Amino acid sequence: MSAWLERIKDALWPRTCAVHDCRRPVDRPEGYICSRCYATLPWYDEFAKSTFAYLSPIVELVNIYKFSGATYLTEDFAAAMERSFRRKHDAASVDVVVPVPIHKSRLEERGYNQSGLLADALAKRLGRVCDDRSLVKVRDTGHQSRSTGDERRKNLAAAFRAARPERLRGRTVLLVDDVMTTGATLEECTRAILACGAHRVVQFALAKALMDEDVGEDYVKT
Ligand SMILES: [Zn+2]
Repeated sequence: MSAWLERIKDALWPRTCAVHDCRRPVDRPEGYICSRCYATLPWYDEFAKSTFAYLSPIVELVNIYKFSGATYLTEDFAAAMERSFRRKHDAASVDVVVPVPIHKSRLEERGYNQSGLLADALAKRLGRVCDDRSLVKVRDTGHQSRSTGDERRKNLAAAFRAARPERLRGRTVLLVDDVMTTGATLEECTRAILACGAHRVVQFALAKALMDEDVGEDYVKT
């Protein structure tokens, strides 16, 4: 959209910051997070697998993104992911961007796969192709946020399958998730992608839930 159209749109429908308790007008050219909040997000760039630490306000933003239809946050998230991805990785080495899939019953319930939206927007920004059909979730593993690492891994075994292995064979795949917790989901997806002959899988998440080994226990409890 041209700059003057953007200005008219902003005048008619002012964008207010999506961060809880902020509500200032958005002063960035695109997106729904104001520059002050954007600068103070929990950036986690030192870790090559994720853009943010899963801490406030990212926790609240991801919640409305996943469960309250706040899909307008896609570009804010994708822009942030592009920035941190390019710092650590070579976008040109990626052949295809694949989202962590959700089970079709959950897709029907929610109407969209949040990781699919992120993968698609990130792929566009990196000039790569997004493929959200070659990896599928064949088993509904339910909510497992309270499970331990071992329970998660058992529950996830064989939950993912490459539906079109020929599309992934020999490729370098950028695998995109919203929130990475123990890493078990990304590992299971990686296993399924490599099983069909992919060359390499680069795992990347919007946010990483900090575990003891990342920063120590105090951080985990906040
Ligand atoms: Zn703000």
